[in-house]
Amino acid sequence: MKKRIAILGAGESGIGAAILAQQKGFDVWVSDKGKIKEKYKSVLCKYDIKWEEEKHSLAEILSAVEVIKSPGIPDKAEIINAINGKGISIISEIEFAGRYTNAKKICITGSNGKTTTTSLLGDILKREGLKVCVAGNIGNSFAWEVASGNEYDFYVLEISSFQLDGMFDFKADIAIITNITPDHIDRYDYKFENYVNSKMRITRNMTETESLIYCYDDLVLREQVEKLNLKCQLYPFSIKQELLKGAYLNNDIIIIQTKEKEELMSIESLALQGKHNVYNSMAAGIGARLFEVRKTTTKESFSDYQGIEHRLENVLNVHGIEFINDSKATNVNSTWYALECMKKPVVLIIGGVDKGNDYEFLKQVVTQKVKGIVCLGNENTSIIKAFSDLGIPIVETQSMRKAVNTAYVMARNEDVVLLSPACASFDLFENYEDRGRQFKAAVREL
Ligand code: ADP
Repeated sequence: MKKRIAILGAGESGIGAAILAQQKGFDVWVSDKGKIKEKYKSVLCKYDIKWEEEKHSLAEILSAVEVIKSPGIPDKAEIINAINGKGISIISEIEFAGRYTNAKKICITGSNGKTTTTSLLGDILKREGLKVCVAGNIGNSFAWEVASGNEYDFYVLEISSFQLDGMFDFKADIAIITNITPDHIDRYDYKFENYVNSKMRITRNMTETESLIYCYDDLVLREQVEKLNLKCQLYPFSIKQELLKGAYLNNDIIIIQTKEKEELMSIESLALQGKHNVYNSMAAGIGARLFEVRKTTTKESFSDYQGIEHRLENVLNVHGIEFINDSKATNVNSTWYALECMKKPVVLIIGGVDKGNDYEFLKQVVTQKVKGIVCLGNENTSIIKAFSDLGIPIVETQSMRKAVNTAYVMARNEDVVLLSPACASFDLFENYEDRGRQFKAAVREL
């Protein structure tokens, strides 16, 4: 009899895992407590995979030898207790897919900058002519790509902390940690320490032949790397000090030092501007260097790379007012970096579902850069409380159109209207993409 694999959650990663598990000869049972999207249902039917929605049938799930859990399902969910009670192992789709490929795996995690660094490194490796697949939290799921049968030499994978929680034997060839700042604290018992431990899991099983690339200016990360006594090769990067290995700046030129020292290029020539993107470029640059990518290829990518939707995306200039969509900024740290690189006075649209934000962290940069705040959320009390003594106007809104119109009235010629919410979007929008799209639509209607 075939062994059963149960898959909880029928989103991108769950469906990918289901296809791969079916292909590897398991009896697959997909179960989702919510409604499954039509596009995924038709895939399940096409592959003749058994599924259920709007319920979890215990008997079906508990007959599995292993459970693959979607990153969206919290460990505290009732069904997880039941599975744990039976001693059935629960893993993530990344752990599962990792068993079925010998390609090199470059895994990127961090609180901010994951998608940018992942796609930038993917772009460099592709330009170099290598057989590369960019997957994980970005594009298709890893499992789906492995199941597709395409022969890749490299996977560049964006990995979230929730996925890392379900990873045990998986080993990255190169791991990149962009930074660790408080985020998703609600899923970690409001303990930053738990979230940090989760992020550091990316280094599990790495030995002398593997490499960790990490931000040396991030004190939390630096302390962890020292504490964990890792066996792998370490490549730190810093914009504050010269390092013996990794990447640093010399008169605003990015220096990459792996085996040899290499002067890459000036930060002024980077297509992606802002301090945070210097960090992301350094991380991607070291990764490329470790695979001996030619300097010209990395430079070409860094000067041409067009950026990604919803990340400091220039939308339109309306009567001299620049509108920028940074809807992906879902925590205070990313909003800090967005504000930090603004060169003109800003009207900031901020707010949404607060995952335990400390707005004090933004106070100084808001004082320096922001001339007006438009709150966009059902619940704005903590934002108003944090910024009310700064003497700048604060207006509450509950729809994107209202927020954009209000910001437009507040702004003057040569100002910027920046949507950088520092919060998740689920109160008023489907997700951050929906929020960003609504922003762009409202701007175009002005
Ligand atoms: P993630 O995938 O980790 O959410 P993204 O690359 O999508 O990160 O960037 C999301 C937002 O976070 C960006 O719009 C920017 O404001 C901010 N950001 C990007 N890179 C960094 C970084 N290295 N450090 C801090 N903030 C960053």
